[in-house]
Amino acid sequence: MGSPAELSVDVLIVGAGPTGLFGAYYAGFRGLSMAVVDSLPEAGGQVTAMYPEKMIFDVAGFPAVRGRDLVKGLLEQAGQWNPTYLLGRKAETLETVGDGLELTLDGGDVVRAKAVLITAGIGEFTPRPLPAGDGWLGRGLVHFIPALDAYAGQDVVVVGGGDSAFDWVLALHPIARSVTLVHRRAKFRAAESIVRQARETGIRIITDAEVTALRGDDGTGEGRLAEVELDIKGSGREVLPAQTVVAALGFTASLGPIEDWGLQIHQRAIAVDSTMATARERVYAAGDVAAYPGKVKLIATGFGEAATAINNIAVSIDPAAHLFPGHSSNAE
Ligand SMILES: Cc1cc2nc3c(=O)[nH]c(=O)nc-3n(C[C@H](O)[C@H](O)[C@H](O)COP(=O)(O)OP(=O)(O)OC[C@H]3O[C@@H](n4cnc5c(N)ncnc54)[C@H](O)[C@@H]3O)c2cc1C
Repeated sequence: MGSPAELSVDVLIVGAGPTGLFGAYYAGFRGLSMAVVDSLPEAGGQVTAMYPEKMIFDVAGFPAVRGRDLVKGLLEQAGQWNPTYLLGRKAETLETVGDGLELTLDGGDVVRAKAVLITAGIGEFTPRPLPAGDGWLGRGLVHFIPALDAYAGQDVVVVGGGDSAFDWVLALHPIARSVTLVHRRAKFRAAESIVRQARETGIRIITDAEVTALRGDDGTGEGRLAEVELDIKGSGREVLPAQTVVAALGFTASLGPIEDWGLQIHQRAIAVDSTMATARERVYAAGDVAAYPGKVKLIATGFGEAATAINNIAVSIDPAAHLFPGHSSNAE
């Protein structure tokens, strides 16, 4: 595969979440070449970043599927057409050049495409930082847990009081040596049932507590993370052993540069018509980022919208092509 600087494809997909990955499969099924760009280092969008270990119950054909396994299946399905993945790259500007489009990535590489499908979900999501964790990312501080196995036998401190924080403590409990949840208030944003489950499991929950320092194995800010210092209201300082701190403090999301692409955007979503076309020629949108009356943001709807968008893109690229793709069950 050439470097992005030389890349030219039929369809460029912005966002490697479930919708973008299914769009990549569908583009290949329609005989179109494709590239998929995502600012995150791994494919799977919200599923990979926020709930890879959770079971999903409303994807057609799967009574229950773990987030990570759904993404694996989507990658395998798209993989038969060898998409070019440009991961860890942000889509910045979109220019119309002749009857095609040129998308510039951070770093300046340009990808040329006959059509663009925006599947940017809720946009780029940036985790809210843990103030005391400055400088510790990659040395023991994480915001997401892509694979639980990496924490086997560790002491883990999860900071936060929302659903994600409780999801992580429950998922880590059977694997880690110790798991502690630290929250700065006595009340939680998380659903009562999941809080109860964590308490019943015997997970230590420390409330009214702030993380004041992270320390390395040499007792300083250097080296690998070894311990976490807390300031607990009413009882003062406590130091916990921790090789990993999960800062589950929520995230901010923003469409960022996409806001400047000349599209109709309202409340962080791009207006599309029933063909998933945006206000801009040969630019389509699908999944969480696409808006129309009655829209429901779900993985299942994103899949249908990706198929609609790509079939319409196929016709926009080649007006002689049929909109209806034929049945995949007839393809060899
Ligand atoms: C905790 C949780 C549980 C959920 N459970 C369910 C469930 O049970 N069932 C269900 O149907 N849905 C569920 N959802 C919602 C579901 O995850 C979303 O509907 C789905 O992920 C949308 O997919 P998408 O591909 O449209 O967008 P996303 O998954 O958001 O992916 C968009 C991708 O675009 C990338 N991107 C954005 N802007 C740029 C840019 N400028 N350049 C490059 N890349 C960019 C992002 O990094 C991201 O990876 C849940 C969501 C959460 C947070």
